Amino acid sequence: MKILCVLYEDPSGGMPEKYPLSALPEISNYPDGMPLPSPKGRDFAAGTLLGCVSGELGLRKFLEDRGHTLVVTSDKDADGCDADRELVDADIVISQPFWPYYLTEKRIKSAQNLKLAITAGIGSDHVDLQAAMDHNIDVVEVTYCNSRSVAEHIVMMILAMVRDYHPQHQIVKDGGWHIADAVKRSYDVEGMHIGTIAAGRIGYDMLRKMAPFDVHLHYNDRHRLPAEKEAELNLQYHETVESLVGVCDVINISCPLHPETEHLFNEELLAKCKPGAYLINTARGKICDRAAIAKALESGQLSGYAGDVWFPQPAPVDHPWRTMPNHGMTPHTSGTTLSAQTRYADGVREILECFFDGHEIRNEYKIVSGGQLAGAGAHAYSAGTATDGSEEAANFGST
Ligand code: NAD
Repeated sequence: MKILCVLYEDPSGGMPEKYPLSALPEISNYPDGMPLPSPKGRDFAAGTLLGCVSGELGLRKFLEDRGHTLVVTSDKDADGCDADRELVDADIVISQPFWPYYLTEKRIKSAQNLKLAITAGIGSDHVDLQAAMDHNIDVVEVTYCNSRSVAEHIVMMILAMVRDYHPQHQIVKDGGWHIADAVKRSYDVEGMHIGTIAAGRIGYDMLRKMAPFDVHLHYNDRHRLPAEKEAELNLQYHETVESLVGVCDVINISCPLHPETEHLFNEELLAKCKPGAYLINTARGKICDRAAIAKALESGQLSGYAGDVWFPQPAPVDHPWRTMPNHGMTPHTSGTTLSAQTRYADGVREILECFFDGHEIRNEYKIVSGGQLAGAGAHAYSAGTATDGSEEAANFGST
């Protein structure tokens, strides 16, 4: 079989010769008891760069030993790109949310042999899920592999935005010491109302990690949590997004991108937020309206916006979120720490082993199966596509 793997570019200075830590901490299971990815073998060193082209997710030996062909590229957007040329006879495509190969309906139609699309991470909105269902292509992701990595990043961003860390750090780097400049937008998180749109694996873990800060915790989700999980963190449930955003000082977004959530945070919803709220979005850029976010920061309706997700990716150089006031954006990094890469590389190999050996892929990994939403996909997505407009990614570097 031919496996096309689209990964982000190597480090600009080449692959690292050494890493800060010689070993990763030991983790047993995920918090709900779900086992970590468990492939039969591993051909890479844990804690190394695996998500970039030369890292190859550690798959080459495994695939070639079994007689398969592996093609790895980062060239994914422009007309005639490597990925489009290789896709036409690929059986399996592996892509990542950080550097998404947008599997639009047009691309899916061009891929006559395609059977399986694997997301090396979590969030398969870069695949036109409707087209995958219509063309009987299964879509799977490595559920849980980086959920807790993202929850850590959210906590970091809440603290960085509320305490106004970035300008303070810049003052030090600039050789300065102006305390009043440094603290004129700086608050404690203690006592604040912190809410999340979606309390799934990431959202709930973020709430759990924030609880020791002595804050009030809120959530909205299309699936209400069991009473004991609400009681554990003293959570207030909101039936609607509007009800939550009206009372929270910090609003976090942790739902997947699908037709129900696309542009959920538009001008109208932002106007209903508590004035001066902070918004954190590590879910997907397209859940927020690009221009409305920039405008809300300029007017002060939002005090800060932070996250790591953009639409499209890579974000155009003139994307307004690069330059809007009081933002704490990073490129899409929260789920691809060296720790997370080891888990998603193991998870992709586990999925491939199951697929080749005719074993059932874990139900938790399934997004689309047998022409319909399945597993984690049936729980968290709605049918349809959210890939419209992704062709803009080809403009990266051209403006
Ligand atoms: P999860 O499946 O455990 O949780 C998703 C939750 O969203 C579920 O509880 C579901 O009920 C809820 N939901 C779905 N639609 C909703 C709606 N319309 N309103 C309210 N709630 C809704 O997944 P997770 O591990 O928590 O990941 C969530 C999302 O975060 C992913 O789909 C992905 O888009 C994003 N993510 C980003 C990164 C990153 O690196 N930035 C990494 C992993 C995941």
